[in-house]
Amino acid sequence: MNQSTQYNHASAHSAVSHHLSDETLLDYANGTLSAAMETLLACHLTVCPHCRARSAIADDVGGQLLASQSPSVPKMSAVELLEQAKSKPSISVTKPPKTVGDTTVPRALGRLLPGPIESLEWRTIAPGIKQYSLSEQPRRDGAFKLLRLEPGVTLSQHTHNERELTYVVRGSYHDELGHFRAGDIADLDNYDEHCPVVDEGEVCIALIATDAPVKYTTVLGKIMQPFVGI
Ligand SMILES: [Zn+2]
Repeated sequence: MNQSTQYNHASAHSAVSHHLSDETLLDYANGTLSAAMETLLACHLTVCPHCRARSAIADDVGGQLLASQSPSVPKMSAVELLEQAKSKPSISVTKPPKTVGDTTVPRALGRLLPGPIESLEWRTIAPGIKQYSLSEQPRRDGAFKLLRLEPGVTLSQHTHNERELTYVVRGSYHDELGHFRAGDIADLDNYDEHCPVVDEGEVCIALIATDAPVKYTTVLGKIMQPFVGI
């Protein structure tokens, strides 16, 4: 039994403090997340034993939900089942997936890139902001991209009309919702309005997936909307 050893090992190289929501983990367990969202989720699970354990629970909950279709079992919502499962002490923690090459890039992301993250064909979309799109999909189907943000850059204030996931690959930023460092995931719902500011001292690289375009709330943001997805 070396569960605690694994926890210590994982926490030694990451200080993850922002996690996936219950709703996102349940959607993942049910197979209803987009491929882009699944990639972000896999990146976070690489560095987060807490969410790996919760993901395993969510898988169990998915099975129990199916079982509860039977009339002999009392009906519970997915969230109720997840709450119930959380109270059980036996949580098995799987080993983190391996990374390849650049150890700061989780394999789920690295396999989608043609080369090292710094040598990608970044496209400048605003001062201090470069983008690398991972999707050929039309925008109405949501964005899937990397952003490379210079230290101190502020992104326009915006809200979301659908789910948005942001995984911090490198560097850090802060906004109304907290301080996000490498390994953290911002799991935003429809009504979170935020204005991310990149911390000084280091370039921030973030992986973003949205289900649909975001709505900017400032004039500059509206001008930038066609170019910036977060
Ligand atoms: Zn987590």
